[in-house]
Amino acid sequence: MDVRVPEIPESYQGYRSRLQAFIAANLPELSFKPKVGLRVPDEPEDVVKLRAWVRALHEAGYVPARYSESEIDEIEEKIRVEELTKTGVPHALGNGLVAGALKHFGTEAQKAKYLTGLATGEHIWTQLFSEPDAGSDLTSLQARAERDGDFFVVTGQKVWSTWAQFSDYGYLLARTEPGTGRQGISAFILDMNSPGVTTRPLREITGTTDFNEVFMDAVRIPVENLIGEVGQGWAVATASLSEERGQVGQSEASDPVVDLMRLAQRSLRPGGRASADAGIRQKMGALAARSRIHRYLSYRTQTKALQGQSELTDAPLTKIWFSETNLDLCELGMEIQGAAGGLAEGDSRVVDEGRWQDGFLYARAWTIAGGSNEIMRNMIAERGLGLPREPRG
Ligand SMILES: Cc1cc2nc3c(=O)[nH]c(=O)nc-3n(C[C@H](O)[C@H](O)[C@H](O)COP(=O)(O)OP(=O)(O)OC[C@H]3O[C@@H](n4cnc5c(N)ncnc54)[C@H](O)[C@@H]3O)c2cc1C
Repeated sequence: MDVRVPEIPESYQGYRSRLQAFIAANLPELSFKPKVGLRVPDEPEDVVKLRAWVRALHEAGYVPARYSESEIDEIEEKIRVEELTKTGVPHALGNGLVAGALKHFGTEAQKAKYLTGLATGEHIWTQLFSEPDAGSDLTSLQARAERDGDFFVVTGQKVWSTWAQFSDYGYLLARTEPGTGRQGISAFILDMNSPGVTTRPLREITGTTDFNEVFMDAVRIPVENLIGEVGQGWAVATASLSEERGQVGQSEASDPVVDLMRLAQRSLRPGGRASADAGIRQKMGALAARSRIHRYLSYRTQTKALQGQSELTDAPLTKIWFSETNLDLCELGMEIQGAAGGLAEGDSRVVDEGRWQDGFLYARAWTIAGGSNEIMRNMIAERGLGLPREPRG
């Protein structure tokens, strides 16, 4: 297979210049500093500004492919993601996974009501899948949804719900049949302002509050908020989760190895600059190779998708490669700084405003988000290589 390296033709320069001008004129000023990963601002005022920013992007026609009703030019999409990622300001709010679920399983009324709100930033969504005792093995989730006339009554707890503190809606999985296993799980749209929903933010080691616990106490969800059929929740969730894995690590705006090299050139240590240290140079060379492989692995995955030849193992392979390379890269960023690596964001002597510290503390998250790397390896072994299934407890 010929892997397509997406080059940007000269004729797209106009599109890029118009977008850059739009960004210069409209980018909001936030109290929230740009961060790596899926991060959530602390201040509600920032969220108000971000909603206006996403609405302005939408009105100007800069709509993510995921939310677009019409065919999207893939080169424009690439430029859009590149330029918006460079700003460090979020350009999509909350968790948009529900879009895939609605497109494939939603009713016409649901699509009409929710898809535009997702795209314009009017509705922020959170994903309510994980529970304290159901993460990798999501089939053991225990939140209950019992039918009561025209409603389902939901009781249970969710955790790691990103953006939930600012969300209008939740993409919820709950059990409509008691027991465990895939059967009996259903997918719902939960209005986060419903009586009985309590959201408790969690403060993380990175200093931001990205996750929440969400408690549901006899929350009434109208039957029209069911996505798909009763008991079809596993199929709905699987469709959207595979989309999530494919997206992890695809939005790099700059080459992190180049940034690392610049850091090593600036960092002084006993005996000279870090860039002259043989051990550091070896590690940097290895990371440059791994980073290049990640880029080509992504191109390969994209080419296969465009040719309709995707395989189940494509997204897990790319996700594992990206997240583990990123982890080692961030660790090297700390090592290069030596003792200064211990300085925290906010300290006047911290390098690059603490970017490497933040990246280091956050890097582990990519090895877990969208299914942990161990689970991805199991998937590759069993479904890709045809090895025997691991014993399930
Ligand atoms: C950045 C980020 C954002 C997230 N956002 C959301 C969100 O918005 N909504 C949501 O519902 N969830 C979210 N999650 C939660 C995420 O889906 C879970 O963390 C993930 O599914 C793992 O579950 P767990 O944390 O309970 O770990 P566990 O499942 O308890 O796993 C613990 C460890 O055991 C390993 N392990 C488990 N089973 C096996 C096995 N069979 N074989 C080998 N090793 C195994 C795992 O790999 C892991 O290392 C988010 C997570 C992250 C990191």
